[in-house]
Amino acid sequence: MKAAVYRSKQLFEVTDIPKPEPGPGEVLIKVNQSAICGTDVHAFMYDIAPPGSVLGHEFAGVIAATGKGVTIWKEGDRVIGGGGEWPTGKEPPTKIHPRYNYRKMGFSANTRTRGYAEYTVLEDWAPLPIPDSVPDEAAALTEPCAVAVHAVRRSSVKLGDSVGVIGAGPIGLLAIQAARAAGASQVIVSEPAPGRTNAALAVGATEVIDPFEQDPVDRMVELTNGRGPEVIFDCAGLKNTLQQAFDAVRRDGQVVLVAVPWEPLPLLPAEWMAREIDFRSSWGSLPAEWKISLNLLADGKISASSIMTDTSTIGLDKIQETFEALMSPTTQLQTIIRM
Ligand SMILES: [Zn+2]
Repeated sequence: MKAAVYRSKQLFEVTDIPKPEPGPGEVLIKVNQSAICGTDVHAFMYDIAPPGSVLGHEFAGVIAATGKGVTIWKEGDRVIGGGGEWPTGKEPPTKIHPRYNYRKMGFSANTRTRGYAEYTVLEDWAPLPIPDSVPDEAAALTEPCAVAVHAVRRSSVKLGDSVGVIGAGPIGLLAIQAARAAGASQVIVSEPAPGRTNAALAVGATEVIDPFEQDPVDRMVELTNGRGPEVIFDCAGLKNTLQQAFDAVRRDGQVVLVAVPWEPLPLLPAEWMAREIDFRSSWGSLPAEWKISLNLLADGKISASSIMTDTSTIGLDKIQETFEALMSPTTQLQTIIRM
């Protein structure tokens, strides 16, 4: 079967590898659509993906075969490649390791062939069924959607709140919609790329600030009657964005870091700590949030189509150039690989 194998030093090789066989308690999934996640771009960019591995954890497909003892799936069932409740003892280290360090431990745990291949094998508890009303392209976005849902559920966003979202890449665009679904009445976005600006407005941003044209802190404060948003989500994680979030958020407000900065960030706490701001980081998602995301996608409260464009579906053979392009700040929305 065709797969994109990570070799090392920012190099994929699209090649034939043996098609996996489902063992007892496992299912073989024919992958139809696989979304490219920022996490995989980081694994590529910082060369932390193990050589020989096949990345990709955001995929939708169908059950192609079931292993011995599998009773909950049959061939042809539409599934996404995650979101099942972890059985005791199968919880990922990100959720149970007492000192989990993503930078040092992030990719060593899972070396199984995943979604950037025609087929992949999962244990039978791992996938979730896709509702009939959710097309595969949307279903492939359940995982990033669950990341946004997790961030909003970890936040203190309440009905009627003003929210700031810094960065309208795939996660930012989903966070806008999750915050709206949670009751935010105003969502102010800071994003310079015009394509992403339009997408942000299409999914429910009330205002979009171009941070190269206007000071995003001043503008967020101005748009909230001199107070600042109650909650700001940093979905960019760039050199100055966390400081901007602290600077702009209201007294007693909350800053939630969703993006994963890989470089040290300069912060000047004397600027903002007198306003007694809460800080939360948000990491990944929980199985329950995959189900919430599928429901939001099925109800149209989160729209996948508005964060995808015609040009953002590629074949597996384009993976190398696509990852190279995604390493630098991009105007691109969500990219999906069609197998
Ligand atoms: Zn992801």
